[in-house]
Amino acid sequence: MNIRFEKTAVLQPKPDPDTLKFGRSFSDYMFRMDFSADKGWYDPRIVPYGAIALDPASIVLNYAVEVFEGLKAYRTPDGGIQLFRPLENARRMINSAERMALPPVPEEQFLEAVTALVRTEQAWVPSKPGTSLYIRPVLIATNRDLSLHACTDCLFYVVCCPVGSYYPGGLRPASIVVEEQDVRAVRGGTGYAKCGGNYACAQRAANRAVAKNYNDVLWLDGVERRYVEEVGGMNIMFKKGNVVMTPELTGSVLPGITRRSIIELLRDQGYTVEERRIDIREVTAELENGQIDEVWGCGTAAVISPVGRLCIGGRDYEINQFRVGPVARKLYETLTGIQWGTAPDPKGWVCPVAL
Ligand SMILES: *Cc1c(COP(=O)(O)O)cnc(C)c1O
Repeated sequence: MNIRFEKTAVLQPKPDPDTLKFGRSFSDYMFRMDFSADKGWYDPRIVPYGAIALDPASIVLNYAVEVFEGLKAYRTPDGGIQLFRPLENARRMINSAERMALPPVPEEQFLEAVTALVRTEQAWVPSKPGTSLYIRPVLIATNRDLSLHACTDCLFYVVCCPVGSYYPGGLRPASIVVEEQDVRAVRGGTGYAKCGGNYACAQRAANRAVAKNYNDVLWLDGVERRYVEEVGGMNIMFKKGNVVMTPELTGSVLPGITRRSIIELLRDQGYTVEERRIDIREVTAELENGQIDEVWGCGTAAVISPVGRLCIGGRDYEINQFRVGPVARKLYETLTGIQWGTAPDPKGWVCPVAL
C-alpha cells in the first residue's frame, strides 16, 4: 500500500495517562482509506485527526451499517512498541464486515494501516506501567441511499487514543446483574460481529445496572433467556476447581481474542476448558453449593475483570468473598506480561512495530 501523508498544522499536547478518561482524547493523526464499488479500496492516507463529513442520508447514519475493532499498542521495557495478535483483529473485522454486507478490508491492508498509524504516532504510546495506545479501526457505509439497496461507498478509518491503566489501584472485582428484560443478540443475528448495533441495544440495560449500583450486566441468550452469553462487552468464564467453562461460540457471542488466548493458556496449565451452553440455573445451583470458585470477564480493555458479585433473579451471590481469585490474577499477570513485553512470549503472540 502506498500511504500518502498529510502533515498537521498543530500538534496536540500529550495528556497525562494517569488522569485520562478512556476514549476521550485522541492522537494527532488518523488513517483513512476509501472504497467505491468500481474502484475498490483506494487512496490510503494518514491525515490530521478530525471530523468526517457524512451525507445525512448515508447508510451508516440511518441504518447503522458499520463494524469496528479494538486493539492496543504496548510500550516494552526497551522502548519498543508491540501489538498483540493483530492478525486476529484483521480476520475478525473481515468476518464482521461480511455479516453486515460491507466490503472487507484485506488482512494485509488492515495490518499496514494499523502499523503505519502506530509508527506515525509512536510518541503517543505511553510508557507508564499499565498504559497503552488503544487503536480503533472503523468501517462505515457512506453512500447516500435510504432505499438500502447496497453499500457502494465505504470509509475505513483508524484512530488511536492513549489509555491509562484499567486498574490504577490493582485488579478489582466487579458487581454484575443478570439482565432479564433486554437481550443483546440472537443466533442468526449480529452477536458475533463487532458492530455498533450490538452496543446501541445494550446501553439501556447497562444504564439500569449502574443505577442499581452494579458495574454491568450478564447477558442471557435471546430466545430462552436461560443460557449465559457475555458480560457487558466482554466474554465470561466460570471456574469450578480444575474446570473452566465459557459459553460456546454459536453466533450470538463475540469471539474474543482475549477469550481465545486465555483458553489456550488454561489448557497449557492443565485446566479442562469447556466451551458449551451454560444454563443460568446451573450457575445458580453451583454458586449456592460453592462449586464455582471464580468468575471473570475478559476482553482487550480490561484483560481480566473478576466478578465478585452476581445478582440472579434479584438475589446477590458473592464469589470468592468478593476478592480477586488466584487464577484470575495469574491469567492477568501472564497476559499483561506478554502484552507489555515483561514476560516471555512462547506462543509468538506479540508483533513488534518497526519504528
Ligand atoms: C470486543 C468484544 C469482546 C472482547 O474481544 P477481545 O478481542 O478479547 O477484545 C467481547 N465481547 C464483545 C461484545 C465485544 O465487542
